[in-house]
Amino acid sequence: MAVRRDLVSDPAITSALLLARRGQAYYSRKLNELTDADFDEPSLLAGWNRRQLVAHVGLNARALARLVEWAATGIKSPMYSSPAERDEGIELSATLPVQALRNLSDHAAIHLTVEWRDLPPDRWSRPVRTAQGRTVPVSETVWMRTREVWMHAVDLRNGGRIADFPPELVDALLDDVVGAWQRRRANEGLPDFVLDPTDRGTRPGSGAANGAGERGGTGARPATTAPPVVLSGTAAGLLGWATGRAAAGDVVVADGEGAPPHHAGSETIGSHGTAQRLRLHRLLDPPCAAGACRGLAARGVDRGDERTVRCSQCPGR
Ligand code: ZN
Repeated sequence: MAVRRDLVSDPAITSALLLARRGQAYYSRKLNELTDADFDEPSLLAGWNRRQLVAHVGLNARALARLVEWAATGIKSPMYSSPAERDEGIELSATLPVQALRNLSDHAAIHLTVEWRDLPPDRWSRPVRTAQGRTVPVSETVWMRTREVWMHAVDLRNGGRIADFPPELVDALLDDVVGAWQRRRANEGLPDFVLDPTDRGTRPGSGAANGAGERGGTGARPATTAPPVVLSGTAAGLLGWATGRAAAGDVVVADGEGAPPHHAGSETIGSHGTAQRLRLHRLLDPPCAAGACRGLAARGVDRGDERTVRCSQCPGR
């Protein structure tokens, strides 16, 4: 008789699974609030209506399930055969009748959670390869899915809010934001952005954790003479702004030297690769490459080469 609970008992994995499943429930609830006609309306992601978004989230679950199956069986099973195949799958599925899209969403989500449930404890560290070519332990699929369902629940544009996210999720997503900015700093001359959530005892993110007064000893950051740009606001406010899902709101430059940076763009973290349409996820917005303005590149600008991106307030556009 099949077990009906997770085989894995590692507390870190079980709590991660809980967060992913809560996210799926949140996303599904928002999706179920949409009428069939609502599916034809725009999502929060530029260039995508809700049909395309729902297709993407459903197909993402299927792709991640393939990685879990890979870990379970040892038979290589990539997320997608190619970026083109992924994009075509979204476009094709988006044309399905709405009920079929709803079924895709539900069935794919259930399939993924069953794959997780039935993955034996000794297989969770098995390496799999993401669509971007990163080799990760299959346990990483849980976080990959967590990001997708929570953020895209907001992108459904029918009332999902980052303010509804659990605090630990907000902090983990801020870690991703800071990490991505830090990785790009050296190559692109980005300002040293530090996020300072006003409603947290400790700052999330590697950059924030090593705040300005403690720098220099860890070696974790590239050497620089420029002072960090500390962005202050509630954690949820910072995340909403930094991921392009909300206006600046309470986010300010902490040193008081200016207004909140203007904002936005189309970079993503992790799972979306380089396809142009998927770039429009805007999960992460790049700091302005000119840097002098302490701002971020303007939303909606067709940037071309990211390394030349400048915000609207900087010279050389
Ligand atoms: Zn996505």
